[in-house]
Amino acid sequence: MIAPVRATTPNSQAPDSPRGLALLRDPLLNKGTAFTEAERDVLGLRGFLPAHVLSMEEQVARVLTNLRSLPNDLEKYIALNSLHDRNEELFFRVVCDNIDEIQPLIYTPTVGLACQRYGLIFQRPRGMFISATDKGRIAELLGNWPYPAKLIVVTDGERILGLGDLGAHGMGIPVGKLSLYSACAGVHPEHCLPIMLDVGTNNQDLLNDRYYIGLRQKRLSGAAYDEFIDEFITAARAAFPGVLIQFEDFANHSAFRLLHKYRDDIPVFNDDIQGTAAVALAGLFSALRVNGGKLADQRVLFLGAGEAATGIADLIVSAMMAEGLSEPEAIKRNWLVDSRGLVVKDRAGLTEHKMRYAHDHAAVEDFLTAIRTLKPTAIIGVAAVGGAFTPEVLQAMAEINHRPIVFALSNPTSKAECSAEEAYRHTDGRALFACGSPYDPVKFDDKTFVPRQGNNSYIFPGVGLGAIASGTKLVTDEMFMAAAHTLAYLVTQEDIEQGSLYPSLPRIREVSAHIAAAVADVAYRRGLATTARPNDMMAYIEQQMYDPHY
Ligand code: NAD
Repeated sequence: MIAPVRATTPNSQAPDSPRGLALLRDPLLNKGTAFTEAERDVLGLRGFLPAHVLSMEEQVARVLTNLRSLPNDLEKYIALNSLHDRNEELFFRVVCDNIDEIQPLIYTPTVGLACQRYGLIFQRPRGMFISATDKGRIAELLGNWPYPAKLIVVTDGERILGLGDLGAHGMGIPVGKLSLYSACAGVHPEHCLPIMLDVGTNNQDLLNDRYYIGLRQKRLSGAAYDEFIDEFITAARAAFPGVLIQFEDFANHSAFRLLHKYRDDIPVFNDDIQGTAAVALAGLFSALRVNGGKLADQRVLFLGAGEAATGIADLIVSAMMAEGLSEPEAIKRNWLVDSRGLVVKDRAGLTEHKMRYAHDHAAVEDFLTAIRTLKPTAIIGVAAVGGAFTPEVLQAMAEINHRPIVFALSNPTSKAECSAEEAYRHTDGRALFACGSPYDPVKFDDKTFVPRQGNNSYIFPGVGLGAIASGTKLVTDEMFMAAAHTLAYLVTQEDIEQGSLYPSLPRIREVSAHIAAAVADVAYRRGLATTARPNDMMAYIEQQMYDPHY
């Protein structure tokens, strides 16, 4: 096949298909040493490539050989990034075919380290950097983007994973996340646009860092910040009609506000709040298959009271209500512990998003006492406090429950509440465990457990694909609930028997396709879709999935 020609669109700058060196330097069209003899003749490539023609499979093998010889994960991240910049099809083939090995390198946990070093490892821009100094001309900037974006992942870098304010260095997150959209759900790379809204940083170390790539000023705040975001949203919708916007790694005080401000009018969602919620709920459904419980009977105690915790709690409440509880009854089954102890009604200065879970209860200062007092059936760690699930915490859960549910979801690995090995060891191998960071299988007594990551990457790619395929006007909680049910449904008996609460990662494209179909189905049923309902939903979804090949 002759090299593909990039689609021409209203937003593109009418690219005539490049030839010769220009073709080799275009990452969307470059095939490197895989250009065939015929292509080399037709496309003016003679003399630019060594004689031997490699197949894509041989190129993939070469990439993996190189990658595995590198000394550490950051070097591997850099190598993969540079492949992404050279040859997108090959990059995505490598990721799709080796998702278990590559996802932790291009996303969590390695991306956290990459963001911390972003100024040093920065090689080539990807996506768009829109800074506070661009106020008033954001539409003009977005007009420079040459591809037809259908999905924007945008951050302001204020709360990158559990690492805090990394300013413009947070760009690694939208870039990594969009790679997963393409690899895990087949959202075409041309439709993906990562955006850094560089409103400054309050991280003094970065402001002092000579290699910091962002704007050297304190963050915009108050009305100036809101006006900037508003201008961006308006410009993005004008430049890319119907575009789905995913808010990513905004700090609490912006994340909840922005989500609530826009979610009833335009297709937006916040993955830290809603995607996390769906993946955690799916994990609970799987755990309940093991211990035979009903969701409506669970008592869930969160360590953390931020975006992830309240997002998960909100979705659990909706799911408990679907099982017949009243809203107050469901809320009462979810408790939060933050840095000041149990969130209770009498506590002064509680922020808005915690109020729903501020119960009538005496103050409790620490997590262990909260466990002994409330006797939860499940604990969910989303506070980014490494090691917070101490042996005593785990033992207390094992004393109260025959099969305690323990989710240590914080990222990166250094922030994990406990390791998989600790979770099994301190509960006599009885924990129903999910983690935010990848862990190897754990041998305990005569059993080998295969812990799996409760990673949003099971959810957001499929949600995004379903939203785009249906052209939904809004992204609703019902869609996330459907995603959670679908994900749990795809966990096999064999998974369950080895302690895995999620399907294996190599099944991710199948998982995403099913989630996309479930999400699109909600859009069609609720009258939110802007495309015609297909007769065969799965076939329709699968048709839209980008599959990297030459
Ligand atoms: P956040 O900043 O919104 O919330 C953190 C919360 O932890 C805050 O409520 C804070 O008060 C609380 N906290 C801080 N120190 C504490 C302490 N010592 N004891 C108890 N609580 C404390 O962040 P978030 O978006 O909710 O994310 C939290 C963590 O969860 C991060 O590490 C993030 O990477 C991780 N996360 C993982 C996944 C996943 O897929 N596994 C998804 C989302 C978030």
